[in-house]
Amino acid sequence: MKLIVEEARKWTKAGKVADYIPALGLANPHDLSIAIHSPNGECVSAGDIEKKFTLQSISKVISLALVLMEQGKEDVFERVGMEPTGDPFNSIAKLETMAVAKPLNPMINAGALVVTHMIEGNSVDERLNRLISFIQTLSADSEVNYCKEVAKSEYETAHLNRALCYFLKEHGVIQEEVEPLIDLYTKQCAIEMNCLDLARIGLVFAMDGKDPDTGKQLMPSAVARICKTFMVTCGMYNASGEFAIKIGIPAKSGVAGGIMGAVPGKYGIGIFGPALDETGNSIAGIKLLELLSENYRLSMF
Ligand code: GLU
Repeated sequence: MKLIVEEARKWTKAGKVADYIPALGLANPHDLSIAIHSPNGECVSAGDIEKKFTLQSISKVISLALVLMEQGKEDVFERVGMEPTGDPFNSIAKLETMAVAKPLNPMINAGALVVTHMIEGNSVDERLNRLISFIQTLSADSEVNYCKEVAKSEYETAHLNRALCYFLKEHGVIQEEVEPLIDLYTKQCAIEMNCLDLARIGLVFAMDGKDPDTGKQLMPSAVARICKTFMVTCGMYNASGEFAIKIGIPAKSGVAGGIMGAVPGKYGIGIFGPALDETGNSIAGIKLLELLSENYRLSMF
C-alpha cells in the first residue's frame, strides 16, 4: 500500500488546493493518505494518516442518511430530486429554469441545503450535535467534532450558498431563516476526521448500514442503498460518469480533498489528498483509487 501511495503522490503536483473557503487554502497539497477497512476488523492504511481534514461535501451523504431515517423518503424526495445535474455543485441555474424550485439531487449544494434544513432540533447546536453524534457512531470515534476555524471561514464567505437559500426560501422549499441554516450547514461541512474514521463510515455504507463490529443496524439497509446510489450517480461532481467507468465504486468527494468509498459488501475506503483536479476531486486520490480498482478488481460493474 505504501508503494501505491508514493506512486499516486506524484500526481499531487498537478493539482491545486481549494481556496474559495480561505481556511482550506492552508492545506499542504502534497499530503496523501488512505485507509481501507474490511468487515473482519482489519484496516490497512498508508501515507499521512494522522492528518485531519474537513468532510465538506462528503457530509452531504451522512446528513441525507440521518434525514431519511428521521423523516422518511417520501418527505425528503418531495423536496429534493434524484437526478444528476451535470452542473457545478454550487450552481443555481437549473433551479431557476425548472417549473418547481426543487433541487435536482441532495449532492449539489441546493439539495444539500434542503436536507440540512430538515435536520430536526430546537437550535443550531442541537441539530449539529445530533448529526455529530450520528457521525461518531458511524466512525466509532467519540472524538469527532467540527473545525471552528474552517466553519467560520466558510460562514464568512458563503455568499453563493446564501443566495441558494434565499431562492429556496422565496419558493417555499425551506422555511427557516437563512443565517441559522448557513451556520448549521457550514459547521456540518467543517466536521473533521482522519482517513481511518472516514473508511469506517464508508464500511457501514458498504455493509448496508450494519456496524462492522457489533452487527447492529446503524441505519436501515434501504437508507444505505439510497445513499450509495447517489454516490454512484452524483458523488464525484461532474466526473461521476468517468469515475463510474474507470473505478466503479460508490464514492463521495469533498473540496477539502477527502473521498469516502463504499465497496458493496467488502470495504470502506477513506482518502485524503487536498490537491484537487479541475472537477474538484482529489487528483492523487483518484489515481490511488484507479490503481487499487485495477489491481484488486473493485469495480461493481
Ligand atoms: N462547504 C462546501 C460548499 O458548500 C462544500 C462543497 C464541496 O465539498 O463540494 O461550498
